[in-house]
Amino acid sequence: MKSTVVGSFPVELKESLSAKEKLLKVFGAYDPYKNAIKDCVISQLDAGIDIVSDGQVRGDMVSIFTEFIPGMKIEDGNTVIVSKIRKPVSEISVKDLQFAKNVIKDYYGGNIPDGKGIKGIITGPTTIIHSSRIESFYKNKEDAIIDLAHSLKVELDAIADKVSPVYIQIDEPFLSTGMVDMKVASEAIDILHEDLEIPLAMHVCGTLDNAFKDLSKFNVDILDMEFAGNDVNLGVLEKNSNLIHDKKIGFGCIDSSINELDDVDDVDDLVVKAINIVGKDNLLLDPDCGLRRAPKDIAFKKLQLINQIKDKYS
Ligand SMILES: [Zn+2]
Repeated sequence: MKSTVVGSFPVELKESLSAKEKLLKVFGAYDPYKNAIKDCVISQLDAGIDIVSDGQVRGDMVSIFTEFIPGMKIEDGNTVIVSKIRKPVSEISVKDLQFAKNVIKDYYGGNIPDGKGIKGIITGPTTIIHSSRIESFYKNKEDAIIDLAHSLKVELDAIADKVSPVYIQIDEPFLSTGMVDMKVASEAIDILHEDLEIPLAMHVCGTLDNAFKDLSKFNVDILDMEFAGNDVNLGVLEKNSNLIHDKKIGFGCIDSSINELDDVDDVDDLVVKAINIVGKDNLLLDPDCGLRRAPKDIAFKKLQLINQIKDKYS
């Protein structure tokens, strides 16, 4: 059993800068987010998380990608599709992930132990297109989703080659909404997964009673879902456990929607149920969703709680 996070973490931008940072700022080369990434990574490691994220500190999950993709532009914070979607103009998250991985390396004194490390996270093409407005070029969302999958594949391959993360996660919160063409969403994941030599995970938010059967057929190695702040999904998993086959389950076991520490017995019960359904070797424990909105100390305690339960049953 391993522990991970879904992705986002509370961001604190440093106010007092070192002399070197002040100098960089004078030359316009100071990146305030680097300290935030370092903070997020160290907090996650201190809490005992095995596979950490870079904290997704730079902005919302859609525009951090679409601002780099020709054919898409951001208007008042929303993404608008204005022409054919093409390959990103540059790498998007590679540098942040390399930086985060070096923080992990330093943390462990030079060598990252087996089973620990960083994961790359990409917001999925279906979710990005459903969060955007089509102004021209595309007559339907589905064609845009497939073009965007090809565009994001360039970023995914760059992460795999240059960062060597433990795995890559695609965030597709929209797949539970019932508004999505699941066949096209699945085809988009196939495009992203092609020739990838590390595991591919997919995170989906929300209640899965209508989506689970479809999701179980997606070509991913890890399916990550919420089980703490949701009283339907555990029953769905139990009833359909025969459909999962060789997939691992990212098991959201603390509630990311409440800003207080979860009850330890509730989390323990939930994890025991998950172990009984899928077996501990097939489980990754994590929060239900990103922790961006939680106060930093609460986010840290939530991650500590996950690892306390993980250690109890590992
Ligand atoms: Zn989520």
